[in-house]
Amino acid sequence: MSAGDAPNHARRRPSLKDHARGALRQRFAERGWPAYRADQIATWLYKQDATALEQMTNLPADLRDAIGEAFEVETLVVEQTQASIDGTRKLLLRAFDGARIEAVLIPEERRHTLCVSTQVGCPLTCSFCATGALGFTRNLSAGEIVDQVLHARRLVPAGESLTNLVFMGMGEPLLNLPNVSEAIRILVDPKGLALAPRRITVSTAGVLPQIAPLLDVAPIHLAVSLHATTDEVRDVLVPLNRRFPLAELMGALRREPRLNRRRPVFFEYTLMEGVNDSLEDARRMPRLLAGIPAKVNVIPMNPHADAPYRPPSSAVVDRFTAALHEAGLRVTLRRDRGRDIDAACGQLANRVAAAPSTAPDSVPGAGRPTRPDSLQGPLAGNRWGPGDAGALPPAVEAHALRDR
Ligand code: SAH
Repeated sequence: MSAGDAPNHARRRPSLKDHARGALRQRFAERGWPAYRADQIATWLYKQDATALEQMTNLPADLRDAIGEAFEVETLVVEQTQASIDGTRKLLLRAFDGARIEAVLIPEERRHTLCVSTQVGCPLTCSFCATGALGFTRNLSAGEIVDQVLHARRLVPAGESLTNLVFMGMGEPLLNLPNVSEAIRILVDPKGLALAPRRITVSTAGVLPQIAPLLDVAPIHLAVSLHATTDEVRDVLVPLNRRFPLAELMGALRREPRLNRRRPVFFEYTLMEGVNDSLEDARRMPRLLAGIPAKVNVIPMNPHADAPYRPPSSAVVDRFTAALHEAGLRVTLRRDRGRDIDAACGQLANRVAAAPSTAPDSVPGAGRPTRPDSLQGPLAGNRWGPGDAGALPPAVEAHALRDR
C-alpha cells in the first residue's frame, strides 16, 4: 500500500466496537433498525468471535448491507506476533491510518494477562519510558482498544481464557478517558466480553481530574505510576508531576471514598539505580502513602536505548522491597516478562523485529510524529519538554548524562 491509497482518517466509518451495547442500540434505533439487533451483534462479536457481517447469519441480508455501509467491523490488523522465551507474546497491530500499536499477552500459572495500549505513542514524555520517546500521534478509538483484546484472545490456548487486563501499554489512558470508558463498558458487559471488573486495572501517571470519573465507570482497579518520593525527582521522571504534584495527587487519593483495602491503589515504582532506590526513598514512601489503601509494585527498570537509567543490583532491589515491607506496606516485586522481545514495561516502542512472522507493509503516513507543545483538556496550558526540566537532582543528572 502506498501513501496515496491509505484510508482517509476523516472518512472512516465508526466501528461496531466503538459503542457499548446501550449506545449501539440507540444508534440502531435512530436509523430505524430494531435495537435488539445490536444485542445479536454483540453476541456475534464478543461470544462467537465473528470478524465480518457475513458471518452473522441471523441478521437479514439487507440489514447486514445497511450496517456495513454505516459501520466498520475490524479496526486493527495483526502485523506481527513475537514470542518471548518466557511465553510472553507481543502483538504489533496496525490501524486503518497506518498507526502501529502494541499489546502484550503474559501467561502466568492459571492466568493470562493482556496489557493494552490506549494511544498511539504518548504525550507525557516520562524520561525513562520508551513510549514517551516516540511522541504522540493520536488517541485510540474504543474499538481499537477492544480489538486488541479480541486479537489476543485468539492466542489463548483452547480451554483457557483471558483472565486479566491491564491498561499499561502505550499511552496515558486518562488522557483518552471517553474511549477507554466505552471500551471498559464493552469488556465488562456480561453480553460483551464479560470480564470481571476487578480483573481490570487502569494505570495512570496521575491525571488527577480524571481519576474520579474513571472510578465511576466500573469497579475496576486503579494503578498510579509513582516512581519517586519527592517532587524534585518525580518532576524529572514524570513531567506531569509539575502539573499535579505529589501532595495534591496523594491528597485526592486519600479522600477518594471508592478506594478501600479490597480496592486499593496499585502504586507502580520503577527502580532506577542511584535515582530513586535509596533507603531514604524507602522511608519516605510509607509517609507519602499514609491513609491510602495501597499496594506497591516494585519494577526494576527495564533498560532500553532511549533512556539513560539502569536497574539497581538485585541486592539493592531486595533491600528496598524489604524496607517497604518492614514499614508495613503491601509490596510485590514484578518479574520482568518479555524483555528479550522488548515487551516489558516501558519498552513498547513499535520496533519491528528483524525477522517478522508476517511481512509488514510499508506504513503510509507513519513518519515520526511530533510532540505537541501543549495539550488539551486537563493539561491545557501545561508545557514541558526535554529542555525545561530545570536543575536535575545530582543523581538524576549523573544518570541523564551517562552514555549520551
Ligand atoms: N501512562 C500510564 C500507562 C502506562 S503503564 C502510566 O504511566 O501509568 C506502564 C508502566 O510501566 C508505568 O508504570 C510506567 O511508568 C512503567 N515504565 C515505563 N518505562 C519503564 C521502564 N523502562 N522500566 C520499567 N517500567 C517502566
